Amino acid sequence: MAGMLYLVPTPIGNLGDISQRCRQTLEEADFIAAEDTRVSLKLLNHLNIKKPLVSYYEHNREASGQKILERILAGETCALVSDAGSPAISDPGEDLVALCAKNGITVSAIPGPCAVITALSISGLPTGRFTFEGFLSTNKKSRQEHLDALIGEQRTMIFYEAPHKLTNTLQDLTSAFGAQRRISLCRELTKLHEEVIRTTLQGAVDYYKEQSPRGEYVLVVEGAQAPEEQGFTMEDGLLMVQKKIAEGLSRKDAVKQTAKETGLSKNELYDAAMKL
Ligand code: SAM
Repeated sequence: MAGMLYLVPTPIGNLGDISQRCRQTLEEADFIAAEDTRVSLKLLNHLNIKKPLVSYYEHNREASGQKILERILAGETCALVSDAGSPAISDPGEDLVALCAKNGITVSAIPGPCAVITALSISGLPTGRFTFEGFLSTNKKSRQEHLDALIGEQRTMIFYEAPHKLTNTLQDLTSAFGAQRRISLCRELTKLHEEVIRTTLQGAVDYYKEQSPRGEYVLVVEGAQAPEEQGFTMEDGLLMVQKKIAEGLSRKDAVKQTAKETGLSKNELYDAAMKL
């Protein structure tokens, strides 16, 4: 009989966050697949657990995934961990889950530490509807396309970011969503220097002119106001697009700017502008 794949979340900063069930699953698994075996070995030593470790990360996921699959099909149980937080969320695991699911293997996820949910819950911004955007690409074109697609997004948006890229990202978010949009910068969650900075995008840009970003960040950004709340109709939007085109902007840029200023959907505006 085939074994199983367990997704085991690990602490994002506070070792006390490892649950009894995570510990037990690691103890009972036949082997552990880890993003960085050195990082996971430290945790296992702390928990006093000795288990065979195999490496499963971004650059060996195909070959390693296949070997893990074969072992599970042969009856072994695998526990997958990443360096910190929930496997498969901006971390290796997504492909392994898909591979196991495709091969009829039961996959079970144990709930636990996850930076996105921890940040959202303390952000002070609306939590009812949200969208997780992960890391923005470092490729300029994909990054811009990603941000453009979010113009007019009304749900709270959540991004992961590394400290050395933070100031650049804050500037790009400000250009995309406007200076007054609210943001909660959730830093060093569950750690000694945990901090939540609740401000506007411009406020955050200004703050980091004085300070160097330090530690790990989750950025929680308020969604756009509904167009009705801002009082703009599609007709208003189209008039604004026409005015901007007359002033020399391309149709695409005119639509993009108008969507940003009014909260109207960029795609709907674009379709309407094409029919003019
Ligand atoms: N799978 C993990 C999860 O969902 O918790 C996330 C892994 S991702 C490679 C790492 C990113 O998560 C960091 O760059 C940061 O944006 C965020 N992160 C992880 N731990 C954090 C913490 N303690 N405080 C704030 N952000 C954190």
